[in-house]
Amino acid sequence: MWLKEPAEINGTIRFLGTHELCFYLVQGKDALIIGGGMSHATPALETQLRDIDTHRVKYLVVTHSHFDHCGAIPYFRRRFPGIEVLATAASRDALAKQKVADYNARMNDLAAEQVGLRGECIPLEGQRDAFRIDRAVSEGDVVDLGEGVNVEFHEVPGHSKCCLATYVPGCRALFPTDTTPHPVNDWNDLAFPSAQYDFASYVKSLRRLGEFDVEILGLDHHGVILGAEAKEFLRLGLRRTLDFQQEVLRRYAVSKDLDEVARETAREALGKVKLQFITEDLMFIITRTMIRNIIAGN
Ligand SMILES: [Zn+2]
Repeated sequence: MWLKEPAEINGTIRFLGTHELCFYLVQGKDALIIGGGMSHATPALETQLRDIDTHRVKYLVVTHSHFDHCGAIPYFRRRFPGIEVLATAASRDALAKQKVADYNARMNDLAAEQVGLRGECIPLEGQRDAFRIDRAVSEGDVVDLGEGVNVEFHEVPGHSKCCLATYVPGCRALFPTDTTPHPVNDWNDLAFPSAQYDFASYVKSLRRLGEFDVEILGLDHHGVILGAEAKEFLRLGLRRTLDFQQEVLRRYAVSKDLDEVARETAREALGKVKLQFITEDLMFIITRTMIRNIIAGN
């Protein structure tokens, strides 16, 4: 089953945010939020979190450093004073770079403007330390939320260098961040992979995710895959990724022109991506980067 819109999943996990920008509240005695999202998701969060006590949420997990995964950090700091922001060391280092922070802030403010929510969101441009990470976590680290709820972290590079997956074994819930293609029109209709950092690492990470015992697969974009379909979704994601690699290599073998293959593929990819903030230019850049990497690795 594909749960597209925010809802309570079980007594421990609540899906928050929007269909495009997903966050997850994990509750034991203490609570943790997975997902740094974008600033324009925060008006929805404000409503969804209205019954949650100010001091209850102790941790925020930033799943990677891209602009659409960190824009809500300042909102969470204000809403939950003392919240500790966790991410990989690679995310921490990326977000500490002024150039990255400036770009991320600009993209978030622009998106808030475009959807008419600028007035309801914290402006990020010019804000010092907007995306500061408080603590780096790495492979195998665990946070104990009490009441038997443990949260594990796994490093899954490939989409970016800094991707962090989160697993709640007590619920068989896996949060893979963007280390899998997204669903498009149906749960088993998958978009192209997005492996901008390193294609081989992405495949390796996706294979690892396929080994988890999973009944709840909470994506960063487009909702949650539930039940037996969760594991099947990860299997399809790997197949989709390997098929994509073969197709790219086939096209390149014919034309020997990286830009041409990237343009053609980006056009197709854009038809499958349902995220307003992914522009044609951005899609070309990320597709070209991935294709160059596939060709170089072959
Ligand atoms: Zn990303």
